[in-house]
Amino acid sequence: MASDLSDLYQEILLEHNRRPRNFRTIDDATHHADGFNPLCGDQISLQLKVGTEKVDDAAFQGHGCAISRASASLLTQAVKGSTADKAMAMFEEFHRMLTEPNADLDLDLLGDLEMLAGVIAYPTRIKCAILAWHTLKAAMDGEAVATTE
Ligand code: ZN
Repeated sequence: MASDLSDLYQEILLEHNRRPRNFRTIDDATHHADGFNPLCGDQISLQLKVGTEKVDDAAFQGHGCAISRASASLLTQAVKGSTADKAMAMFEEFHRMLTEPNADLDLDLLGDLEMLAGVIAYPTRIKCAILAWHTLKAAMDGEAVATTE
């Protein structure tokens, strides 16, 4: 069962890589940042439109490995419609998922982001998965550039 589930997740991740969601620009973006993962060569440019109550829109562009693209795609889906506080809580939980084995995770908060949980077994790929989230935090904090180094 566990391996069936991870096969399914892998298929969904590959599909997100082939057809990333929100892979575009936002004309009236309020926040943006560029993220780099020098270990793998992943680059993403993240744009957000943050309203008074929530993140109204999120989109990204860039190039990189399948995991970095799938993660950025899932991020845009996860944060769109969320409050900024919730988006940051997702970042903390996502980070815990990839860095603390057997952590007691808030799966409701993570939602589809849980599909990347298997990355914890591949330490060299963790930065690929987390790049988009560091970039989100930089954008929210008003910093132009994020790096996983
Ligand atoms: Zn990568």
